[in-house]
Amino acid sequence: MENPTNLPIDLPARPALLVVVSGPSGVGKDAALKQMRERNYPFHFLVTCTTRPKRAEEVDGRDYHFITKEQFAEMEARGEFLEHAIVYGYDYGNSRREVREALGRGQDVIMRIDVQGAATIRRTVPDAIFIFLLPPSMGALEARLRKRRTEPEEYLQIRLHAARLEMSEVENFDYLIVNEDDALDETAQLIYAIIQAEKCRVKPRRVTL
Ligand code: 5GP
Repeated sequence: MENPTNLPIDLPARPALLVVVSGPSGVGKDAALKQMRERNYPFHFLVTCTTRPKRAEEVDGRDYHFITKEQFAEMEARGEFLEHAIVYGYDYGNSRREVREALGRGQDVIMRIDVQGAATIRRTVPDAIFIFLLPPSMGALEARLRKRRTEPEEYLQIRLHAARLEMSEVENFDYLIVNEDDALDETAQLIYAIIQAEKCRVKPRRVTL
């Protein structure tokens, strides 16, 4: 067939991307993605299923699908999760079908997961894009966790200890963004910019699930 662009090369097809946003608890993953949603960025934001109780400000179906342990176990037994993990005592999992359907529509998918979950996705979907959010300092991370006031003191210390270990995983990621205080818009824009740059790759990533 004749090449309608008349270019001397074939333009590469641009398959939809799977973007993993990870980093320690409290770093601002949810807030950054919320900012992206509010800017109406045209991505599919994956909503995780969890057995954790809903926090006052959270909305079922928007922030998480809050489900029972039994429901979670059934979904797990049916192999419905692309990735699932126990994080601080509760189950979290992402629906493989939801990711597949969005990618099938040509929509880029963004998922936020903890660092162990990102390691799982790296093994099963190596062509995903891995972005690590880092706090500007340990003090800033502690302040953010305290401000959230969702955990009692001893759990807060557990999260801070885990955060130190998780940060040593950063070298396994493709991109690193320091999520500065009061700079959610910059962080959202950087995530967007990374995705746009990925769309200019000569050899595009191809996600198969
Ligand atoms: P929280 O309960 O404070 O909202 O989340 C606790 C941690 O679990 C956070 O680091 C959050 O990003 C992570 N998380 C949320 N959804 C998932 C998921 O589907 N898989 C994994 N592995 N972690 C998740």
